[in-house]
Amino acid sequence: MADHTGKRASRSAKKRVDTSSIKTTILLSFVVFALFLVMVLWGLSNFFLNSFYERARSQEVMRTAETLEAQFKQDRYSFESLAVQTAGTNDLYIRIDIGDESLVFDGTREVLGSDAFESDVSRIQAKLASSPAVSVSETRRDSSSMGSRLVYASYISADGTDSILCIIAPLYPDQVTVRILRDMLIYISFIVLVVSLLLAFALSVRLSAPIEKLTRSATELSNGNHDVYFDGAGFTETKELARALNKASYEMEKTDFYQREIIANVSHDLKTPLTMIRSYAEKIIDITGDNPEKRNSDLNVIISETEHLNKLVTDMLSVSSLQSNNVTMNMETFDLVQAARSVYESFLALASSEGFEIHFYPCKPAYVVGDRTRMTQVMTNFVSNAVKYSGDNKYIEIRLNKSSKKVTFHCIDRGVGIPADEIGHVWDKYYRTSANHERGIEGTGLGLAIVKGLLNLHGAKYGVESEEGKGSDFWFEMETVKKPAAEETEKKDG
Ligand code: ADP
Repeated sequence: MADHTGKRASRSAKKRVDTSSIKTTILLSFVVFALFLVMVLWGLSNFFLNSFYERARSQEVMRTAETLEAQFKQDRYSFESLAVQTAGTNDLYIRIDIGDESLVFDGTREVLGSDAFESDVSRIQAKLASSPAVSVSETRRDSSSMGSRLVYASYISADGTDSILCIIAPLYPDQVTVRILRDMLIYISFIVLVVSLLLAFALSVRLSAPIEKLTRSATELSNGNHDVYFDGAGFTETKELARALNKASYEMEKTDFYQREIIANVSHDLKTPLTMIRSYAEKIIDITGDNPEKRNSDLNVIISETEHLNKLVTDMLSVSSLQSNNVTMNMETFDLVQAARSVYESFLALASSEGFEIHFYPCKPAYVVGDRTRMTQVMTNFVSNAVKYSGDNKYIEIRLNKSSKKVTFHCIDRGVGIPADEIGHVWDKYYRTSANHERGIEGTGLGLAIVKGLLNLHGAKYGVESEEGKGSDFWFEMETVKKPAAEETEKKDG
């Protein structure tokens, strides 16, 4: 019992923290980024604040020295008031030695005693004396109460005497500044963390919302609801995914519909000839068996119905093998015009018996690479469809056109035509236009699907132009090749 409860608890914990979900990933990424940012800020302030401060301070000292020197050369009294002001505002110790006289302007806040900087001054003055340069500076680091400081000294030549200017700048950021900076950092860190958490939350909700919506729709689809609509509003990628899923769902629905249709059609198509075969066989047994003429006529009906059944089953097998890419092609170079002529000739008998007007307009020989038998099957299918769907206007035209490196085959009829909104579907398997059902024309809707598969295997272009009530033009186009050498020699020999 306790074991079960434990399992349930761990399962619900797993559900709560799904580390691979978009929400958690975004949330974690933002938190890590924010923490990193805060750490960088704190690191910078802790490790580099002093060096930043030192650099800024020495630049300030150099600038101050230049100004003071220039002022001293101009006017000594205004120099003094400038020195007092600068020392006060910039926390500097300024001293000038004019001959034996020393003037000190001490603006350092720390009360270090009157001669606190005495040793610094004598050191830098000695350094200046031994240096060929007109100014020297050094940074003194010690842990005494005075702390680190920048010590500067330079000669100022005015009125023929050399005076020495010394500036000492304590190198520690004053505690108030440091405290303000730290306080600011605490606020900044807090704001960064809160803002990134809010942002991560908003972003993850916005990102996962369309995905969750799509998942819900997909679950509905998998439960058999084909009317479901995929809505990926929000992002381009989710919109594209939704579009692809809507298309897939539409295709599934279509296939489902056609499959239901074909089961109905095939059962009907199988039932009619089987009933016919059975009733004619019974008729032979019961009635016409002894009359050779009538018996033969009944047997012919049985044979024709068997052929029909055979065609139906063969078509279904062809579609299935084309679909599974299980077709072996016997590729050869042959004259398409010649192959089309034999198709035309095979329909002549039917044309005269059924009263069809069938015309053949060939072009010059056009050699193509392909499976002659299968291409013949394609052309035969076009022509037999033309016969089937030519209605009362029994006119059929087989036309071949040759242009540079291309040959086009057309099978034109002036029959029932195809409604504009259905024309795109005639190549789909099991598709039969609405007009067929009304007219009761027999068919399986598999012929053009087989043709499409075969033409695709040949890399041929194909299409149909049609107008309802006016007729159709089914065509395909293939690349031509050079006449094979063997045929040329055969012809010469002939
Ligand atoms: P079917 O066995 O029904 O003829 P097909 O795959 O050969 O199957 O053709 C699919 C559908 O295309 C037909 O049912 C018919 O509606 C339409 N079709 C094909 N050829 C023609 C044509 N020449 N004229 C009008 N409609 C045609």
